[in-house]
Amino acid sequence: MTEDVLRVNDLSTRFFTTEGQVNAVSNLDLRIERGEIFGIVGESGSGKSVTARSVMNLIESPGEITSGEIWYRNRDLVEDVEGDYPDAVDGEFVDLLALSDDVRRSLRGTSFSMIFQDPESSFNPTLTVGEQLAEAVEVQRRASANPRSTRARTREYSLGNYLLSTVLPSQRYVSEASHERAIELLELVGIPDPVERADEYPHEYSGGMLQRAMIAQALAGEPDLLIADEPTTALDVTIQAQILDLLDELQAETGMTILLITHNLGVIARMCDQVGVMYAGEIVERGTLEDVFDGHVHPYTEGLLGSVPDLERAGGRLQPIPGNVPSLLDHEMDDRCQFADRCPKAMEDCLEHPPEFDAPGSDHHEVRCVLTETEYDESRALPADYFGGKERPTADAYADPGTDIDESTGPGNPPRQPVDEPGGDRP
Ligand code: SF4
Repeated sequence: MTEDVLRVNDLSTRFFTTEGQVNAVSNLDLRIERGEIFGIVGESGSGKSVTARSVMNLIESPGEITSGEIWYRNRDLVEDVEGDYPDAVDGEFVDLLALSDDVRRSLRGTSFSMIFQDPESSFNPTLTVGEQLAEAVEVQRRASANPRSTRARTREYSLGNYLLSTVLPSQRYVSEASHERAIELLELVGIPDPVERADEYPHEYSGGMLQRAMIAQALAGEPDLLIADEPTTALDVTIQAQILDLLDELQAETGMTILLITHNLGVIARMCDQVGVMYAGEIVERGTLEDVFDGHVHPYTEGLLGSVPDLERAGGRLQPIPGNVPSLLDHEMDDRCQFADRCPKAMEDCLEHPPEFDAPGSDHHEVRCVLTETEYDESRALPADYFGGKERPTADAYADPGTDIDESTGPGNPPRQPVDEPGGDRP
């Protein structure tokens, strides 16, 4: 029987800038089951990465999580914190937002880990890849010995200690066992000649290899939940396919849960069990792959599907979604459906208040749109120029988007590449 590993309720993350309050994530709800790949998809600026960073506790000033709950199922953590944080515990779940920053920080690596968008800026150029991986392993090893102490992980590891450790073997922070594990991790993610490659610097790796190394680093603590934030954006398409296959294989081997963030529906189609479509800081449609691809209700989902190239329909025209994602500045946001000014089916009903989640069919499938309850009625449609000079598309704009999903590749994606040839991206 599957069980939720993460329940996010009503999460809001704001940024308090000089221009005003930016509502980057608003009232977001998520359920992620253990062992599944949950995909979040949406345009740039829709709040996907801020959602991931909120879960990881990586929101920095002027950002702040202003409300909500992030319930994480972990019996060991319950035992560790129920004395100090009795209100944060509910059965096997702990509300991460009720814990101190120190405790939350201690969960990084072993509970949650993240693959960032750009591996080249995420590695330290002055240390070898092997050293950086070994450090990550060492930190997790120390954390396991003293699970909830952040200090135990970093004690005696200032810059001075690091320099000392390079000349005095007795002062070594990183053990031999951690170095060996780093090489195992490089091998696990398909880096050829891992012993030699461990001694190379990040600039000696290609983009694809560096992304593999970053995945290895994220796996160092054997996390419960791996968050992959646009893990293939900076890579060319053949390497993208290899990285996706690698993630797929690692998930199948280890059974870990993955939260995959992407703007590419093809990646979602080939990787995910469940999908959340995000727009203007909200999940607007969520469900299984079939719910979202075959039974979607929200016009934004329909628009995303219509803008995907289909290699089998040569000559067909792509239908982009007109307009841009709206400003998320609080004083510029209206109290209505945020997609209304781009929606081809916007009606008077859509202006009353932001739609709540409703289930049009299966239990898993939920949509924030009046169309879950009301048929589109042309006589109540908003005039095309209702939102000032911005013309909205017509109601048949996304008709026949032609996006039959081949789950083995996804729409518009290259065929899967053999993952046993990782040396192919060697520089
Ligand atoms: S609520 Fe109305 S405006 Fe918003 S997506 Fe649904 S139909 Fe379009």
